[in-house]
Amino acid sequence: MQIVQSIEELRSKLRQWKREEQRVALVPTMGHLHQGHVSLIERAQASADKVVASIYVNPSQFDRPDDLGNYPRTLESDIEQLKAVSVDMLFAPTDAIIYPGGHSNKTRIDIPGMTNILCGAHRPGHFIGVATIVCKLFNLVQPNIAVFGKKDFQQLMIIRQMTSDLNLPVEIVGAPTWRENSGLAMSSRNSYLNADEFEKASKIYQCLCECAQAMLDGNRHFQELESRAISQLNDAGFESDYVSIRRAIDLTTPTDLDEPESLVVLAAAFLGDARLIDNLQIRDYSRSGNIARAAARASEIVQSV
Ligand code: AMP
Repeated sequence: MQIVQSIEELRSKLRQWKREEQRVALVPTMGHLHQGHVSLIERAQASADKVVASIYVNPSQFDRPDDLGNYPRTLESDIEQLKAVSVDMLFAPTDAIIYPGGHSNKTRIDIPGMTNILCGAHRPGHFIGVATIVCKLFNLVQPNIAVFGKKDFQQLMIIRQMTSDLNLPVEIVGAPTWRENSGLAMSSRNSYLNADEFEKASKIYQCLCECAQAMLDGNRHFQELESRAISQLNDAGFESDYVSIRRAIDLTTPTDLDEPESLVVLAAAFLGDARLIDNLQIRDYSRSGNIARAAARASEIVQSV
């Protein structure tokens, strides 16, 4: 695996691959890698000849300096993991390389209506930082495809929107959420949890499953379902930011009368020092029509994303 820091080195290798007509995939990460990240790399390998992983803890997407300072940085063990799964290149730039003028980039990418809702409402500026760094990485690597986890569902939607709006020639692939046996979505931030919290943390997934099951059983009182899930989380010792049922296509709020094709239940909550996010997508919601039949098929239809 080639490890590159500078933009010159990166571009020179990429030029060679392009000359050889190799299809390049990019998997952007912030490091402290786990099996979820590895699953994205494997997905990328299935669709490309060469896989570039990036590790960069992007300061402009952190809304709190202490959160940025505490973010786990484990480059040495990350490199071993990437080598073990035969990644072709690791791009691990420094702040000075990515933001030569300091990380208050003058140019920012904002998608009003998408970047300021849900996690964006609780972490002001977060998704502007995400969209801007992903756009910069796309310009630097110029990949044919880029793979992102559906665990960060709102992030994936924002990147899809940006790619489409800016006519970026990159195919965006969303990969399923990788979970612990308990159902807890893997996350670099899970390392902030102590043993008790780690055990308790799967409650967030259980609440999402319960909410999705109630919806498939025909309960259309979405706000009540959201409030119930928030109370359950808070009673279990979480501090909830939100639980929200949205249209999966654009993250807008469905009305009771809608028959959206696909819904998603999203949640964000603190447990101790860790801010955990998770979501469950319910595909074919409108086509489930016959509620009894839908309930019987619930376990098939509810897909973890
Ligand atoms: P991060 O390093 O947390 O910025 O994540 C880098 C990429 O890995 C993003 O596309 C995330 O959505 C994805 N990712 C993080 N956790 C998981 C997981 N448990 N399953 C699948 N993808 C994940």
